[in-house]
Amino acid sequence: MNKPNDDNLLPPFYKKLKAFALRKNALWSTPGHASGNGLKACPAGKDFYEFFGKHLFQADLSSSVEELGSLLEHEGAPAEAEKRAAEIFGADTTFFVLNGTSTANKVVFFATVTPGDLVLVGRNCHKSIMHAIIMNEAIPLYLTPKPCSYGLIGPVDAMQFTKESIRAKIAASRLATNKKAAKVQLAVLTNSTYDGIIYPAAEIKKKLTDLTHFLLFDEAWYAYAAFHPFYEGRYAMCVRQHRANAAYPAVFATQSTHKLLLAFSQCSMLHFRQGSGPNKLDTQSLVEANLMHASTSPFYPLFASLDVNAQIMKDSGYELLNKALDTAIRFRRAVRRAHSRYTKRGEWWFQPWQPEKKHLEKDPQDWELKPGETWSGMNIEPEDHLILDPLKITLLTPGVNPDASMTDFGIPACIVKKYLQARGVIPEKTGFYNLLFLFAPGVSTERAAELLRILHDFKWEYADNAPLAKWFPEIVAANPTRYANKGLADLCKEMHAFLKARNIMRKTAAMYTSLPEQAVPPHKAFYGLSDGKTEYVPLAKASGRVSVFMVLPYPPGVPVIMPGERFPQQDAPILEFLRANEAFDNAFPGFETEFHGVKKVWENGRVFYHVSVLNKTKKGGAV
Ligand SMILES: *Cc1c(COP(=O)(O)O)cnc(C)c1O
Repeated sequence: MNKPNDDNLLPPFYKKLKAFALRKNALWSTPGHASGNGLKACPAGKDFYEFFGKHLFQADLSSSVEELGSLLEHEGAPAEAEKRAAEIFGADTTFFVLNGTSTANKVVFFATVTPGDLVLVGRNCHKSIMHAIIMNEAIPLYLTPKPCSYGLIGPVDAMQFTKESIRAKIAASRLATNKKAAKVQLAVLTNSTYDGIIYPAAEIKKKLTDLTHFLLFDEAWYAYAAFHPFYEGRYAMCVRQHRANAAYPAVFATQSTHKLLLAFSQCSMLHFRQGSGPNKLDTQSLVEANLMHASTSPFYPLFASLDVNAQIMKDSGYELLNKALDTAIRFRRAVRRAHSRYTKRGEWWFQPWQPEKKHLEKDPQDWELKPGETWSGMNIEPEDHLILDPLKITLLTPGVNPDASMTDFGIPACIVKKYLQARGVIPEKTGFYNLLFLFAPGVSTERAAELLRILHDFKWEYADNAPLAKWFPEIVAANPTRYANKGLADLCKEMHAFLKARNIMRKTAAMYTSLPEQAVPPHKAFYGLSDGKTEYVPLAKASGRVSVFMVLPYPPGVPVIMPGERFPQQDAPILEFLRANEAFDNAFPGFETEFHGVKKVWENGRVFYHVSVLNKTKKGGAV
């Protein structure tokens, strides 16, 4: 089966793994299934073996196979594979990480941050960054995202990448011990944001050169940027050749190769480029940090999947991206055409969240967020230089004005989401009035057309006020008195009126403009848990108490409070937002908001949100 041209076509690790797996080997090592043989003994095992196929089991090997080198010591074919990937993605050093970007981010922290170090992180960063802060006992300073009227996750203002801004954050921090620090140890930005806002990475690198020792771009959603000129200058590893004497910081990129490229789940790449300063990072620290997070029994097919993805991007990265951009832009045009057709007739339709220019082309200038334009629902400054990624398509449902006030007519997106789910369509993310669809390189034109048809179907079902039992039989069966004899349009009206009465979009936007007080470092809050010094309290008793967990609502997916921060007074937007969600859960069972860090407690047929806080100290005051 090893074809003669494997030699030329296949990348180094996959080629060796395939050749080895296809040979007749007598393995006296783990894994115990011994190329799948052990599984054939019983029906479930046999089914499992046949479902996945023999090759997967033949390629599941122990690290004692010497000729395949060492994944964790980065020797032999694995090292060759990573070296090639570094060249392909534009890095000095690349590591393949097998527990996702969640782990790749922790590896970066372990390799660069020590207890007490200041780290500058976007408040809109992924939870793995907060986990890394806790594990490394770092002191976080937050970059706040722009509030967005549509409840999307805003990017960080360019104004926050200045010496003055960072100095002010250090001076204002209750936890920073070295108030005179001129630099932070590590700065972290999510590029692009979940909703597809892309930073001018080359510019930001320059701005932060003297302000941070290390810079990490979390590019979990953005591993493809190096392969299309559309993204030039806007990703971590851009600018291959620096001008002589130019100063630049040491930069990391962590990318979920499984998210928008074509690898198996859990596959991630960590890319690194040294800075211009005299202190170079000994990359052995990355090797050691990775060992602290990796299993000693890595799954070889995952590693091979990363090797193959590097090869795919080398061979056809540009074509894949170009086609994905074409498909996404065509889909956006179709939605927009339908929007103008329907609105002319006074009817509603979904609106793509994108610049208003009529004919958006594959030119980054067309996708800029410009000051003064209202479409984004965000306040854009002239120096921000942000663009929207055409591949991340947010569709807005009616209900919200660009200033976060709410219109009389509205269609809450969670109802559309449930309808889509019933039709087998799963959006990436759903907000109060928006849905996100990712146009990954694997999305075909046919699938895009099918999505459009199903969105139209929703409109007709809404117009017919189709009975809820037709589309949500389980929700109706579980709550018969609540939803009996109601239709899709009835539910939309009721839910929109509920959200409008509580002014939910203004509350969401206001929540992130002032951050809660940092009472203790995040790790101290977490250690409270293992020391048994925490308790759950209802929202009504949360004010003044110190949160143990990150409280993270979806939507919008940005934490409202971090571990170690103090819950503000009851009329602050954070608590109003939490109470509004609690009331929503009670009013619309089956459509509950998803939360991390909130315990939902049932009492007398109602749900109450409880949050975990540190115990009060002996003297009776809050910590
Ligand atoms: C998903 C995600 C991660 C974690 O990636 P996994 O590969 O799922 O572990 C990290 N950062 C961001 C911004 C993400 O969206």
